[in-house]
Amino acid sequence: MRFYRPLILSVAFFLVSCSTVPLTGRRQINIIPAGQMMSMSFQQYGDFLKTHELSKDRRQVAMVKRVGQRIQAATETYMAEQNMSDRLAGYDWAFNLVVSPEPNAWCMPGGKVVIYTGILEYTKDETGLAVVMGHEIAHAVAKHGNERMSQGLITQMGGIALSEALKNKPEQTQALWMGAFGLGAQLGVMLPYSRTHESEADHLGLIFMAMAGYNPEKAVSFWQRMNSSGGGAPPEFLSTHPAHETRIRKIHELLPEAMPYYQSAPQKY
Ligand SMILES: [Zn+2]
Repeated sequence: MRFYRPLILSVAFFLVSCSTVPLTGRRQINIIPAGQMMSMSFQQYGDFLKTHELSKDRRQVAMVKRVGQRIQAATETYMAEQNMSDRLAGYDWAFNLVVSPEPNAWCMPGGKVVIYTGILEYTKDETGLAVVMGHEIAHAVAKHGNERMSQGLITQMGGIALSEALKNKPEQTQALWMGAFGLGAQLGVMLPYSRTHESEADHLGLIFMAMAGYNPEKAVSFWQRMNSSGGGAPPEFLSTHPAHETRIRKIHELLPEAMPYYQSAPQKY
């Protein structure tokens, strides 16, 4: 009997570490407790802001915060309606605009968003920014970072706990984190974004922006602009992944589902 115990334990471990993605219902593995993800996120976010220049363009900074808060409110409403508000427990939202020519953006666990000034060239207006904001917040709410980080801990470190990894292999763990959240492009440790994660973020993001009062049809032109940017885009926005035409076709297919949310939004922008 003793022989089977580790197996039973590890099966139990994976069962309790499994959760369900909102909207798509896909089962996913998250071996890292949300609280641990968030404390690491808040630390990393603080460090990032300290080492990067915040935009002083008042109009653009105000727009980032306004769009962020509207998508936040829509996300909270959506999650409450789905009985999934526990996914947002411990969130401490923040929306910052950082000066960088890179056309990039991300949202860490707990709602910590950074928009790079370089992406404003592609978002063009507030609705374009809502596409990016919705997409990035969707990655966080769907816990894609936790899933990517969990996969990294399992494949690279044999499934050890995050706290152990941080203690014993701090540099490797740091690199894993950077890769999981799209910060590792320059370090060459970026994990590839899976098509599953990207299409889930597109799907949920369209609903969030529509509920917040932004026309989801505008997502099509944003992705067209982004894809025409060529090879200069960071991995999160690479024109080749998922394939350009596939992404735009899928967004077209999702619009009939997203539009009613926009039509019944209390306010439209
Ligand atoms: Zn994405």
